[in-house]
Amino acid sequence: MTDTGFPLLLDLSGRRAVVVGGGAVATRRVRALVAAGADVLVVAPEVSDELRTAPVRVQRRPFSASDLDGAWLALACTDDPAVNEAVAVAALERRIFCVRADAAREGSARTPAVARHDGITVAVNGGDDPRRATALRDAIAAGLDTGDLPTRRVRPTGSAGSVALVGGGPGDPGLITVQGRRLVAQADVVVVDRLAPRGLLEGLGDDVEIIDCGKSAHRHNLSQAEINEVLVERARAGKRVVRLKGGDPFIFGRGGEELLACTAAGVAVTVVPGISSALAGPALAGIPLTHRGVAADFTVVSGHLDPGRAADQGIDWPGLATHAGTLVLLMAMDRLDLISAALIEHGRAGDTPAAVVHRATTPEQRVVRATLADIADAARRAGVGAPAVVVIGEVVGVLS
Ligand code: SAH
Repeated sequence: MTDTGFPLLLDLSGRRAVVVGGGAVATRRVRALVAAGADVLVVAPEVSDELRTAPVRVQRRPFSASDLDGAWLALACTDDPAVNEAVAVAALERRIFCVRADAAREGSARTPAVARHDGITVAVNGGDDPRRATALRDAIAAGLDTGDLPTRRVRPTGSAGSVALVGGGPGDPGLITVQGRRLVAQADVVVVDRLAPRGLLEGLGDDVEIIDCGKSAHRHNLSQAEINEVLVERARAGKRVVRLKGGDPFIFGRGGEELLACTAAGVAVTVVPGISSALAGPALAGIPLTHRGVAADFTVVSGHLDPGRAADQGIDWPGLATHAGTLVLLMAMDRLDLISAALIEHGRAGDTPAAVVHRATTPEQRVVRATLADIADAARRAGVGAPAVVVIGEVVGVLS
């Protein structure tokens, strides 16, 4: 067969396909034929265990030309070129297309490497080198999965909108999940936080509406109520809305409130978890949150409240001070002096190792290490402030 072959998708449902051979290649082809609904006949003296139990007819004997009578497609998959040649000749006589596993060029049809995704089929032929085809197919499959390749469907007008609360991870665009990435690629509207992986926005089409919440402790472009309203309003207008958040949507991300607002409005809403900065920050600084023989638990605490008044919010600083496990603080840079003083006052040793991880996973990442007693000063001297994750506990020194 020439390189200018005519690509087709065959409807083999209920149609006879004959596979000659019973080894690994034959087994793979039979799997695909069964998935396509073909009426499969396998002819071979020996067949694999999988073929023995597959929903196909198996004739345990040598090939004979009349096996192809009534067939639409023949696949010659033996390791004996003479047998494969005999299959090709018998197929030609009957005007049946024949794929040769040993010598693609000698057959009248070829099987491509295939990727399927959400109603799309991509079939790749790599000329005489099947590895080129599988390598390209794998790359295409990955691109379809992540949304790097465009898979947006043109949706009929009037179709229902939705909201996805997507955890974008700590900032590096490579640390969002595949599912989150795909939803971003398919979105009509992206409502984005300051600490979300903004690098992902650069790849979006001009027709995608980007709403920047610009949220920081000191600057609120949109209030939470306004954000909830925008999510509901755009989804009601039929848009696929992605609420792209930093870290995980349900860890100090107000994702719960957004979810409630959507369900109250009858808007379909899904949650895609993300890698929280509480986990990524320590990991990137080389600090294991647990370590055998050192710490068997960790506690993640919001540090944005004055420790004197934290008890009102259920934060038990005296209890956390006497507990031996690892402490992780988010939103704590403004009050790190007060928090470390409170921990020491309630019984944590002042020489407990501590670290501040600023803008973890981004090019601006900085790590400051000191003792609990000194950590706030050390961060100040280094000019390191929010956003940062603070880690307190013996684990801080365990790998360094
Ligand atoms: N939902 C987010 C947290 C939002 S609260 C998550 O799961 O990560 C905002 C706080 O998260 C910041 O004050 C800071 O403490 C922390 N934070 C977020 N991204 C960070 C990053 N890249 N590096 C360090 N800290 C970060």
